[in-house]
Amino acid sequence: MAYDQNNIFARILRGEIPCNKVYENDHALAFNDISPQMPVHVLVIPKGPYTNLEEFHAGASVEEMGGFIQAVAETAKLSGVTESGYRLVANNGVDAHQEVPHFHMHIFGGRPIAGRMIKAQD
Ligand code: 5GP
Repeated sequence: MAYDQNNIFARILRGEIPCNKVYENDHALAFNDISPQMPVHVLVIPKGPYTNLEEFHAGASVEEMGGFIQAVAETAKLSGVTESGYRLVANNGVDAHQEVPHFHMHIFGGRPIAGRMIKAQD
């Protein structure tokens, strides 16, 4: 799939749309979800133009991948959920109802999440 340069997260990365930044490093940006589903609901995105995990895996350097994972862990820590726990979700592709075509990870936390199984909504 060709990367859509005008998707909302690309526009956030270019500074055209504001975001409530939680963390940033050379390769990733983390910001609060505009429509939080949990007390902590942060999105972490790579800075490169990757629509989904497949493009990220195929196109990103080891440094980019490491920077992304580091950003997820650091964002969880800054959000205060490292000790209490949190859920990571990446809606990837049509069947997962991915809305924004820029690869991203949701961090959900701040209260116990109902159910032990992975759920698309909670
Ligand atoms: P997904 O693509 O994984 O289904 O979800 C995309 C997420 O992006 C949603 O949780 C939605 O609330 C969030 N979102 C959509 N537009 C914006 C925006 O302009 N700013 C922020 N911070 N989040 C957004």
